[in-house]
Amino acid sequence: MSQQGYVAAPPYSQAQPGMGGYQGGFGAGPAQPLYGHYGGQPQAFTAPPTGIMKSPVSSAAGMPPPPLSSQYSPNIQQNGAHPQRYPAPPASSAYGQPAPSPYNSMASQAPPPTQQLTNQMSAMNMGNYAPGPMQSPPPPAMGQPPMPPGPQSPLMSPPQSPPATMAMGGPPMAGPSMAGPPMAGPPMAGPQMAGPPMAGMGRPFPGPPPPGPGGFQQPGPGAAGPLGYQQQAGPFGGPMTGPQPGMPGGFPGAPGGLAGPPQKKLDADSIPSITQVIGEDQERQGGQVYSTNVRGQVPPLVTTDFSVQDQGNASPRFMRCTTYTLPCTADLAKQCQVPLATIVKPFASLPKNETPLYVVNHGETGPIRCNRCKAYMCPYMQFIDGGRRFQCGFCNCVNEVPVHYFQHLDHMGRRVDFYERPELSLGSYEFAATLEYCKNNKTPNPPAYIFMIDVSYNNIKSGLVKLICEELKTLLENLPREEGTESSAIKVGFVTYNKILHFYNVKSALAQPQMMVVSDTAEMFVPLLDGFLVNYQESRAVIFNLLDQIPDMFADTSESETVFAPVIQAGVEAFKAAECSGKLFIFQSSMPTADAPGKLKNRDDKKLVNTEKEKTLFQPQKGVYEQLSKECVAQGCCVDLFLFPSQYVDLATMGDVPSHTGGSVYKYNNFQVETDGEHFLRDLRKDIQKSIGFDAVMRVRTSTGFRATDFFGAVYMNNTTDIEMAAVDCDKAVTVELKHDDTLSEESGALMQCALLYTTISGQRRLRVHNLSLNCSSQLMELYKSCETDSLINFFAKSAYRAILNQPLKNVREILVNQTAHMLACYRKNCANPSAASQLILPSAMKVLPVYMNSLMKSAPLVGSTELSTDERAHQRLSVMAMGVEDTQLLLYPRLIPLHNMDTSSEAPPAPVRCSEEGLTDAGMFLLENGHSMFLWLGQASPPDLIQSLFNVPSLSHLQGHMSSLPELDNPLSKKVRSIISEVQDKRPNSMKLQIVRQRDKPEMLFRQFLVEDKSLHGGASYMDFLTYVHREIRQLLT
Ligand SMILES: [Zn+2]
Repeated sequence: MSQQGYVAAPPYSQAQPGMGGYQGGFGAGPAQPLYGHYGGQPQAFTAPPTGIMKSPVSSAAGMPPPPLSSQYSPNIQQNGAHPQRYPAPPASSAYGQPAPSPYNSMASQAPPPTQQLTNQMSAMNMGNYAPGPMQSPPPPAMGQPPMPPGPQSPLMSPPQSPPATMAMGGPPMAGPSMAGPPMAGPPMAGPQMAGPPMAGMGRPFPGPPPPGPGGFQQPGPGAAGPLGYQQQAGPFGGPMTGPQPGMPGGFPGAPGGLAGPPQKKLDADSIPSITQVIGEDQERQGGQVYSTNVRGQVPPLVTTDFSVQDQGNASPRFMRCTTYTLPCTADLAKQCQVPLATIVKPFASLPKNETPLYVVNHGETGPIRCNRCKAYMCPYMQFIDGGRRFQCGFCNCVNEVPVHYFQHLDHMGRRVDFYERPELSLGSYEFAATLEYCKNNKTPNPPAYIFMIDVSYNNIKSGLVKLICEELKTLLENLPREEGTESSAIKVGFVTYNKILHFYNVKSALAQPQMMVVSDTAEMFVPLLDGFLVNYQESRAVIFNLLDQIPDMFADTSESETVFAPVIQAGVEAFKAAECSGKLFIFQSSMPTADAPGKLKNRDDKKLVNTEKEKTLFQPQKGVYEQLSKECVAQGCCVDLFLFPSQYVDLATMGDVPSHTGGSVYKYNNFQVETDGEHFLRDLRKDIQKSIGFDAVMRVRTSTGFRATDFFGAVYMNNTTDIEMAAVDCDKAVTVELKHDDTLSEESGALMQCALLYTTISGQRRLRVHNLSLNCSSQLMELYKSCETDSLINFFAKSAYRAILNQPLKNVREILVNQTAHMLACYRKNCANPSAASQLILPSAMKVLPVYMNSLMKSAPLVGSTELSTDERAHQRLSVMAMGVEDTQLLLYPRLIPLHNMDTSSEAPPAPVRCSEEGLTDAGMFLLENGHSMFLWLGQASPPDLIQSLFNVPSLSHLQGHMSSLPELDNPLSKKVRSIISEVQDKRPNSMKLQIVRQRDKPEMLFRQFLVEDKSLHGGASYMDFLTYVHREIRQLLT
């Protein structure tokens, strides 16, 4: 995910004039020595026309990579950048120095034993095993809490809608519709409010950022003052003294200041509600067509069901922004501290009723580009001089129109072929790439998928190996294929492994598969070339034969140790040999402890939680895996990891390569075929069939005045501009931070072009182009009106999750709160009508930001609780780094759907209710899902007839534990509930395991942590407490 390591993430905060507020903030962007060309002199851009091509792999396996250029040296200051403000991210240095090469240094004692055996695979297998002692599987452990709750996105209200206004302690004042005098809230500065000073709080607002934590930078020694907030125990993310399950919404030791007696709760209905915001947007824009013809137009919410008509700007499915009106100057940006970012999901799936992207083929001449900035032909190019020249909308350079591309202009000055050319009239389209866009000027081979199955004791015993082999027989029939072709061009290969690797020759001419064993894992190589990667259709019979044999071959294994890095290395070597890109599907049961490169040891240490060293729990172990990531990306080798752990596996390290290669990590704790089999298979099926591109490089170009400075995603950065992705699938998104270089013009607005060069599943080289135009304004009001909270929270989540690699969690949480308060206070000060200070006034488009922010701070990676599993926290951190806006929205605000009183004849599922215990009823039944976890919650007073209809048992007490699906019963309620569940499963990128919990049963605790408006069991404020706290912060900022 985050490439902090690789991007220069280093330490320097960038010299962004005036953006001090959050620049340093979220891990300052990479140094950008190359950015001069935006709007700069023509010569500044020296890239050849193949501007976004990848350079060929320069370091052979085993050779240390050349040291990166000195631009990453911590001592160099770029652009007058500040000196290092916080320690370099751990990962970064790795690429700055020649990595130790484990593959080189561990000379093998003997030539790799390669055996080739035919027919008698089982026998051969025996021959290769040193019969080790039978090891019992590790004890089941880890009561891993599911992913933390996800929020739903808040909605942005239409620009004209009024800000939400609330008097804390009184009914909300939300705008005209909420008529009524603002309730004067109690003074917020009661004695109980006298918390320690808030960090950064003493400064006048707005003002220059304090030397201390103004962003995600480590407070220097000077910032040593008491950092108020997190010391206030309880509610705000600080560790609580203990779980207080009974106090949802209570105000334990609250930062107080609420009016009147502390017992007097605010009416929960009076504070902004995400479900309401979502419902209103659905009401207003649901079912409608959203045309992208207006610059700076704010799209419907991600949760709204709408269709898109591309009329010159990319669909919001491909690109969303934190705001659709950029402030004209860096000063304004700094003043409001609203992050400027775009979230790009280049391969987003489109619904069936929307047109797939057109492919423009200019033949041998390739796409038309601006000579200076290399932007691709797009609707922002202005044709002049009778159509003989065009002016680039990004850099203003005037270019000659090539003769073959000439066309006359109409009376509007528009080319007469405007509507016939997607690149002139649409926001998104593709170009067929010419050879100069291909590695070594050669057309790429189609990609390959290699299935690498850990056949050690655990996986055999659990039945997993058999399950995978059986499933592959059908799955391979459904490999992705190019539109209009009969079969998939993707080649397939198979490897099994434990401490050693077994490669299989499945050439179609063979009667039986052949196995080759490589036991020297220090010097990994692929023992066969011909017959390893094959066309599935041609080799079907041999592959079936192999899949039938694998479970039996290893049925008696006692080997419990595994390797991991050599498995990835083998995949990369295979792709190198075949000169192709592709994906590795690795099915691994345990931490790799066998003596081999990348061997890991248990470094889990709960004592580090809530200490300065907590960050080390999230940092991958350096060395082998960093080098592997680099090699994988250079070869276009994406790694998907399916983990089946029964104890700690150091996920932070094992997930490192997947998270830099556009891959995914899936985890099934204590896997059992009966209860988890279907869940895992759903994930596997979705993953294999995803639309995907390989060997990709993305570049974001912008019009003059601003630029892309930082990137968050499952990507790899070799330099400061090229976002490299071994693969990118329909669910992966890159969040791109934008900063000012100069003043932006209200008239010309701000333009962005994302160009993604990639290889299709059939081996075609293509360029996918997404264009988006934003407004610019010198009025902060315009910016606030055009904000999108869902996108904001995506940015905040990713930047915070990257920051925890380098900083204590409490700093990160504190920065989140401070920035939230700052953004809202700036609005209050500059945009809202004068009103009583006791009123909390929120910009309409951000009114639910506090709910999401609070949920983010309570999420497993940020919460700092020893009760959470380290692997689980690392897993969530990595997953979020690659998420798009839809996924972070849902993760941070789960959907809670009441099922007990729904109309079973209605098409639509019931409307979700707020994620709070207060919404639950003893006689109710609720479905909760956040894209990663799914619960069916049953109130203890659930009517017997409802239980009967759903489970076919007379009462709750008859329910069997560990059910993971509902029985198929022939009644309307059962059908309806199952159809809701299956619809949700289909929609989400990941499969969710259904967990059935009864009210007051122990497992209910798992469910409760997803009620994100309530106080968290692991420490973390209720929404109400948080809002109260933020309000107090705002008031302090305003005085
Ligand atoms: Zn240009």
